[in-house]
Amino acid sequence: MAQNHQGNDAIQPHVLIFPIPFQGPVNCALKLAELICLSGIHVTFLNTNHIHGPLLRHTDVLSRFSRYPNFKFETVPDGLEHERPVSGDGFMEVMSAVDDVSKPIFREMMVSGSLSRKSERPVTVMIPDACFSFAVDIGVEASVPVICFETVSPCCLWSCYLNLPTLIEAGDIPFKGRDLDELVTSVPGTEHILRRRDLASFCRSDDISTPVIELIVKEARSVPRAQGLIVNTFQELDDLILTNMQNLCPNIYPIGPLHSLHKAQLVAPSSPETTFSNSVWKEDRTCLSWLDKHSPKTVVYVSIGSLATMTIDQLLEIWHGVANSGNPFLWVRRPGSIIGGFDDSLVPSELLEHTKEMGCIVDWAPQEEVLAHGAIGAFLTHSGWNSTIESIMEGVPMICWPYFVDQQVNSRFVEEVWKVGIDMKDTCDRLIVEKAVRDVMETSRDMFAQSANNWANLAKKSISEKGSSSMNLARLIDDIKSMTS
Ligand code: UDP
Repeated sequence: MAQNHQGNDAIQPHVLIFPIPFQGPVNCALKLAELICLSGIHVTFLNTNHIHGPLLRHTDVLSRFSRYPNFKFETVPDGLEHERPVSGDGFMEVMSAVDDVSKPIFREMMVSGSLSRKSERPVTVMIPDACFSFAVDIGVEASVPVICFETVSPCCLWSCYLNLPTLIEAGDIPFKGRDLDELVTSVPGTEHILRRRDLASFCRSDDISTPVIELIVKEARSVPRAQGLIVNTFQELDDLILTNMQNLCPNIYPIGPLHSLHKAQLVAPSSPETTFSNSVWKEDRTCLSWLDKHSPKTVVYVSIGSLATMTIDQLLEIWHGVANSGNPFLWVRRPGSIIGGFDDSLVPSELLEHTKEMGCIVDWAPQEEVLAHGAIGAFLTHSGWNSTIESIMEGVPMICWPYFVDQQVNSRFVEEVWKVGIDMKDTCDRLIVEKAVRDVMETSRDMFAQSANNWANLAKKSISEKGSSSMNLARLIDDIKSMTS
């Protein structure tokens, strides 16, 4: 049963990190793992089989982490036959598989102490993804403190996850056909910001007993019971949200932008090793030399991340809109991201000709480096949280075309709160795309540049030696140590 707190002075801090098996969360969790490893704390990184295979096949993660004798991978079965990353529509399939297959095995690993015995040291703190609500109960059963790690945006976590029961009780959801442009007033702090259309995509369902809503309601109940909550933001960016969230979760560690804090804390930040990839797709680095040929802030970068998909019609509207804006563009077209598949015969020949001249299309890009490249002037994004915070870090204004979950909230905050871009949600029309790109790149360029630079400077400050995120990371490490003694 109880594996620690037994008065044994020899017990060393040993953290178990358990991300949900998708590209974005695993990428973030690996960065968090490395930051914790750097402090000398032992880390076991638990992946489900579904993501572990592709991760090892497509990255140099094993050799990178081999430098840390205090790090090891473990896996847990998830019963999924395919070993490949899924698109957003497969999200619940993966989450149900984890719940049915991985959860009982994980419980046994923790409660019987088999994982601790295998690693020859007891797990002293668990850091599961906040979505794994079962981990908080298992932590109680195994007497192991739990600090949840949330990789969705704090603005969505607060408004649509932690307050999902509030939204349901207040009758704000289901929408029942009410005006999508009306403000939602039941969530403290966002009363003047979020309209119905800006709530997370699952709030649009007419049925509130869907598996996704049940999953999030469970998360809303479990996260406040954990000993702490790690979020990928910096205090200055999300001050209003974090202040409200502390009423429910008093112990929050905002350690973002995590990818930059991670780079800053590695011993030699200028070494090529800081540009390593955790991507399960192979990065095409030729786009960086293509960018080198362009003048500062002239290129539009287009990407919809690792899960979002689009129809051919949507692809063509966005493609025409970006092309008609007259700017060169770098487009990530992830294999499998076009519903029903894609080939050039579906595209007007003039658009293909224009693209040969003005565009660069790749399967997968080294996004952090792309956003940091001086040639990038704007990011047409699906508003995934990692993409958003990576763009904020580099001072790149955004044109937002949100797909699902937190992206609807993020795109609203980008336009309305942080004022670093334009929210195109619920539209997909070449004229609107063209206008949005022209606004960001030309008409309102100075206004967007000013606020984007302002946030980028604050982000850089937060990861500096005495900055808020660096101090929060130090507090997290101290707390992990004190939870062990
Ligand atoms: N990404 C990348 N190359 C690409 C597209 C995306 O490395 O061509 C990375 C990006 O830097 C980000 C992650 O994939 O860290 C996408 O995460 P996000 O939260 O934005 O969206 P999700 O994929 O989870 O929908």
